[in-house]
Amino acid sequence: MKRVINFSAGPATLPVAVLQQVQAELLDWRGSGMSVMEMSHRDKAFMSIAQEAEKDLREVMNIPANYKVLFMQGGATAQFSFVPMNLLRGKAGADYVLTGDWGKKAAKEAGRYCKVNIAASSEADRYTHIPDPAGWKLDPDAAYVHITPNETIHGVEFHAEPDTQGVPLVADMSSNILSRPVDVSRYGLIYAGAQKNIGPAGLTIVIVREDLIGQAAAMTPGIFDYKQMADNESMLNTPPCFAWYVSGLVFKWIKDNGGLAGIGERNARKAALLYDYLDGQDFYRNPVKKENRSRMNVPFTLANAELDAEFLKGAKAAGLTGLKGHRSVGGMRASIYNAMTLEGVQALVDYMKEFVRTRG
Ligand SMILES: *Cc1c(COP(=O)(O)O)cnc(C)c1O
Repeated sequence: MKRVINFSAGPATLPVAVLQQVQAELLDWRGSGMSVMEMSHRDKAFMSIAQEAEKDLREVMNIPANYKVLFMQGGATAQFSFVPMNLLRGKAGADYVLTGDWGKKAAKEAGRYCKVNIAASSEADRYTHIPDPAGWKLDPDAAYVHITPNETIHGVEFHAEPDTQGVPLVADMSSNILSRPVDVSRYGLIYAGAQKNIGPAGLTIVIVREDLIGQAAAMTPGIFDYKQMADNESMLNTPPCFAWYVSGLVFKWIKDNGGLAGIGERNARKAALLYDYLDGQDFYRNPVKKENRSRMNVPFTLANAELDAEFLKGAKAAGLTGLKGHRSVGGMRASIYNAMTLEGVQALVDYMKEFVRTRG
């Protein structure tokens, strides 16, 4: 067996220690005589797995008691609809700040349910920076302000929460949740698809302030209603049990690795290693404004795009996979989520140097 160094944007690499534990427990989960995939979600065994995962996530993220944690399905994309369905609370519209394609998609979907005000956008600059919050055109009557703290395709990340003057801040944290400490109390709602920094695809985490739920629009299906989900411990129907279990193991892995403070330091070092190399030469380029660069997704282009295919082929031969950039921006992208090691990033930098030496 040989594992590659996997830079995929999602589904993405998972900690080896977690995979090994899943493997060890696969046929017989702790004396139950079955795998977690095969047990009833109403069974005591699974209930304990589910509750422990929530407890660990609350501890790791330091989630205040007045926030509900929901384990949902449908990915971040489903939340693009569930958020307006649940959070409009009779208001006419919501503010969206566009710093990449995911935020734009979220705004488009919200447009089916309410008046969408684009409070700021960097689309004209091909999403290479975050518009200065001082210039955002926020609507004081908006139901919420939606941001995408890390734009996975463009490699643009907020490094501080914007002040939304009391209007609830809603964040699609799919690609940077759990990557460093965050003050949850600054947010009305946080959502994230699991497959980047949490666990297997199929699970979506929602963290929502209690007072914002319970006023879903009348047409909201019950399983998309945050209040109904909260009142039923996210088990209104069969949850994505196996993904929930593996995610719980990832939360424990984070605890074992210094919590979010430790993980955040490690991520900062990994990102610095790659960006310092990018900034110190002319062959590769990252187009994002320095203060807004992502610590999770690092897009870069080669001086000569005709060498892209050769770069990727050589990378694959060196055991480095998932580096092809998103089709909308081209070039390369290295996703360096929590489970990517410093050694993995070093291997990428070594390969990039060697490629310049031989082909640059
Ligand atoms: C990947 C991603 C999505 C889409 O997630 P799905 O779970 O596939 O719906 C949305 N937003 C961001 C920021 C992402 O990185």
